[in-house]
Amino acid sequence: MILEIRDHPYQYETEKLLRVFFPNEKLRIVHGEAADCGEQAVVTTAATDTQVFVRFTDKNGVLEESAARGDDGELAMATLLFRVLQSRTGYTPKWGLLTGVRPSKLFLTLERERGTDGAKRYFTETLLVSPEKTELASSVGAREQAVLSLSRPESCSLYVSIPFCPTRCSYCSFVSQAVSTPSARRLVPEYVRLLAREIKETGQIAKDLGLRLESVYFGGGTPTTLSAEQLETLLSAVRKAFDLSHLREYTVEAGRPDTVTPEKLQTLRAGGVTRVSINPQTFNDEILRTIRRQHTAEMTDRAFFAARAAGFADINMDLIAGLPNESVASFCRSVDRAVALAPENITVHTLSLKRASTLTADGTQFDKESAQAADEMLHYAASALGAAGFNPYYMYRQSKTLGNLENTGYTTAGHECLYNIFMMEECHTVLAAGAGAVTKLKAPHGADISRIFNYKYPYEYIAGFAELMERKRAIPAFYEAHGI
Ligand code: SF4
Repeated sequence: MILEIRDHPYQYETEKLLRVFFPNEKLRIVHGEAADCGEQAVVTTAATDTQVFVRFTDKNGVLEESAARGDDGELAMATLLFRVLQSRTGYTPKWGLLTGVRPSKLFLTLERERGTDGAKRYFTETLLVSPEKTELASSVGAREQAVLSLSRPESCSLYVSIPFCPTRCSYCSFVSQAVSTPSARRLVPEYVRLLAREIKETGQIAKDLGLRLESVYFGGGTPTTLSAEQLETLLSAVRKAFDLSHLREYTVEAGRPDTVTPEKLQTLRAGGVTRVSINPQTFNDEILRTIRRQHTAEMTDRAFFAARAAGFADINMDLIAGLPNESVASFCRSVDRAVALAPENITVHTLSLKRASTLTADGTQFDKESAQAADEMLHYAASALGAAGFNPYYMYRQSKTLGNLENTGYTTAGHECLYNIFMMEECHTVLAAGAGAVTKLKAPHGADISRIFNYKYPYEYIAGFAELMERKRAIPAFYEAHGI
């Protein structure tokens, strides 16, 4: 497919919108008129001082429309393109023109300017967001606001990255290494040793600056891929390095039920962890085999009950809508089974097909039917979870997601995962340690954000550790420049 950009600066918006309607198409951008179109569909976008213009040409014919450019040419162009693509494909993306990652953040900004009803109207009438998704953004925004008010200028959170898993799921696009391969397994002891050092040095910087640690999150990968002893090494590094007296929440992802043992859960509890995530993704054993997760639904149940027995009062469970071959009915059964277990949080993700996943390499593609099925799944999840006393409190969107849909965290009253909101809404600094981790420095009294990137892969992290520690000097320098 060719996207022609003629006499306007709105390439970014037009390109993103086109990808929502045609996620599998290879897109060629041409500034001006494309010379060699061959059989390809061509989307021409053009503007004059007063008009915007869109023409869609493919083997079925030509559809062209124009509209007034008005005061906001970008919005006028996006709206017109949306209408033309909607009419050509018969498909109406639920998020309308919104292609951004955080709709609730935008909603909160609009709400401050226009009030709740005004923000809702802007979503539905101007951004063409469906009433259902507008309500979702509004209720997530309201719950986020309550959590954001806990953050102070001197607040920070800590993220610890464990980029190892037992094996690799077929939809995975993370850098996580499967310890089923000897080369990855060999790296683990040295990785843990250096990570404990990085935590120690990061904690010292936080103490020197007088930062107040609000939440800790061990993610990955699957942190519980490590042994109980290795986990204790890291938990003890956190305890020794940081002042935990203000800590509100301590999460460790125990995502894969096949890595969860009573011994590890006891180690986590004894180490101060308050919240774990045990992720079924689906309770359908056949689908679990298809996506190459080496556990069964029964193992998920057992891991969940073991976490309860170990004393965890905050447990999250992740589900994924749109897994290959999973029917709407099967997904709904998974929602019901998760609800029956009564965790405090259920996070409903939509399948995303990133380049690095095996599914993408195998040629799996999105189509309109699977997008519509995912939409039905999310709709069911929202109503079943609502009926069971869960409310949406956290939401984000990713590129290359089925139907351009969202990921939503649901919670029972008072059990919101604070880290998820702090991190997503960028309200305070997140110090990060480990391979692939990104420290995000937030100016205490302003909007400035600065990032420090660690090496992505464990072997690079180990080889470049000394240099990474040098990079951490940017943390005090940032606070010196921005005050505290
Ligand atoms: S558990 Fe998560 S990080 Fe690990 S392989 Fe599966 S999707 Fe990737």
